[in-house]
Amino acid sequence: MESIENRLGLVSFTVDSEPHIKPKSEKCETCSLKICLFICPARLYREEDGKVYFNHEGCLECGTCRIACPEDLDWEYPKGGYGVHYQFG
Ligand code: SF4
Ligand code: SF4
Repeated sequence: MESIENRLGLVSFTVDSEPHIKPKSEKCETCSLKICLFICPARLYREEDGKVYFNHEGCLECGTCRIACPEDLDWEYPKGGYGVHYQFG
């Protein structure tokens, strides 16, 4: 079975400079769950000095963080022409 790293290597992106997902930083500071750090398959959330940082580049648009975040994450699909391009095979 292919590793997740190899599978992610099959994916390419057209990155918009404007993030399509915007965590609410003031909510993140007091969030005790911080489940985004663990559930994102592309590992796009990270914590440093108690703050949560997010990089939208590499987002697979799976929607997992949208469902899991308890604070009504500001989540949209990327604008037309941007985002993930899946390659099969
Ligand atoms: S789960 Fe949501 S509110 Fe909590 S740290 Fe992550 S993005 Fe912020
Ligand atoms: S939509 Fe999926 S890949 Fe994108 S940031 Fe959320 S969990 Fe990660």
